[in-house]
Amino acid sequence: ASPAQKPKLEIKLCAPRGFCAGVDRAIQIVELALKRFGAPVYVRHEIVHNKYVVEDLKAKGAVFVEELDEIPDAERERPVIFSAHGVPKSVPAEAASRNMFYLDATCPLVSKVHKEAELHHRRGREIVLIGHAGHPEVIGTMGQLPQGSVSLVETVEDAAAFAPSGHGPLAWITQTTLSVDDTKAIVEKLNERFPEIIPPHKDDICYATTNRQEAVKAVAPDVEAMIVVGAPNSSNSQRLREVAERAGCARAVLVQRASDIPWASLGEPESLGITAGASAPEILVEEIIDAFAERFDVHVQTVRTADEDIAFNLPRALREAAAE
Ligand code: SF4
Repeated sequence: ASPAQKPKLEIKLCAPRGFCAGVDRAIQIVELALKRFGAPVYVRHEIVHNKYVVEDLKAKGAVFVEELDEIPDAERERPVIFSAHGVPKSVPAEAASRNMFYLDATCPLVSKVHKEAELHHRRGREIVLIGHAGHPEVIGTMGQLPQGSVSLVETVEDAAAFAPSGHGPLAWITQTTLSVDDTKAIVEKLNERFPEIIPPHKDDICYATTNRQEAVKAVAPDVEAMIVVGAPNSSNSQRLREVAERAGCARAVLVQRASDIPWASLGEPESLGITAGASAPEILVEEIIDAFAERFDVHVQTVRTADEDIAFNLPRALREAAAE
């Protein structure tokens, strides 16, 4: 169809969106490890929750495993990389006991929460972790301390029902990729029940999560539908979808690629918001805009609510490879 025949579609692109500094660093760690040590390089768990990224790294020689025991003894000289989500203490301990060489791609902002948890524990405090059961980051954070030291609270109802053991003062910490608003409600409930509970020094929900949710809130009320580019197992992407709906967008859908766009149910919107989770590469956003441009006469406008200039240092073992 010529542009004149296509229906008009106003696309509002949320900014910031997509890759955060922690994801960027984690992917660089795998790429630089491949450059410095050659293939194969093992990666424990999806380095970041994005199929496209994982497939790309697989093609370059990364081998993904869920647990270290999947790496055969004959291969244990090969580097193994821990994902951006962080790992329980038992994982580096197992790697060390098998004389494996590991590189830790845990996001420094997740490591910050780990250190906070350890500090509370050393000071004899009982820790409440606000997060989603089963998410690798939650498993990693809980696994910094002996079992039973951290209680997981997922909802306001959990916070209302939480019964402290009474051993020492209480402190709360969170997963980095939560909904800012949901977390606020949970914290209010905890504060109401335990006014002495100790908060984090600085928010545990990271800058990238907060900024992406803010951008979605600015766009959502003005568009008929919102596309969130991200994977179903990506916590921050799922939260963006919820935030869009709550902020007044009638329909928000999570798609991994252009082939997932639910054309039939989207109908013929006149306005559309697009954002991407912290683990979704920009190339997928472009692919999705192109797919809309084939069916609509699109006009794209960026709505920016924050600037980001955060970057993290690479592990020492890879800095030389990065400089080459
Ligand atoms: Fe780090 Fe936040 Fe990105 Fe997670 S979302 S990797 S905590 S910067």
